Amino acid sequence: LERTLGLIKPDAVRAGKSREIMQLAELSGFQLLAKKTLQLSQERAEEFYAEHQGKPFFPGLVGFMTSGPLYAMVLGREDAVKSWRGLMGPTNSLTAREQQPTCLRALYGTNGTQNATHGSDSSASANREIAFFFPELQPD
Ligand code: ATP
Ligand code: MG
Repeated sequence: LERTLGLIKPDAVRAGKSREIMQLAELSGFQLLAKKTLQLSQERAEEFYAEHQGKPFFPGLVGFMTSGPLYAMVLGREDAVKSWRGLMGPTNSLTAREQQPTCLRALYGTNGTQNATHGSDSSASANREIAFFFPELQPD
């Protein structure tokens, strides 16, 4: 069973969609192995998205990710990393609505930054990101 880190971002939490997204995840074969709600500080958000430091959208991304509570989830499934990114769909919610209207980012996101969900992009990222949000869990 592979694990990935999923986030329900502050826009979707604010819109009251957290439970619905978790139910869709379970209906799509993911086990919700752990979940917690938390608010990111500016410093923690900058650390989480360190790979994007210096890009034009970085300040807006950090502002958005610190704008309210989010849910962090450890999701387990066969091929979890790729499957969760498939369920989320394209990064930009406007593109997602054109290309994959039933994906999570089409259903629950707004634009290029406010896109409802996050998923790790590799198994190495998943391990790092699970440790970032769930330091109390045993590594894989
Ligand atoms: P995530 O890492 O959140 O799962 P992703 O891997 O699809 O998304 P990344 O390229 O890692 O996309 O970008 C991280 C986040 O930064 C995106 O989810 C989005 O919120 C924001 N973002 C990425 N590219 C842009 C952009 N061109 N304009 C505005 N915001 C962007
Ligand atoms: Mg990414």
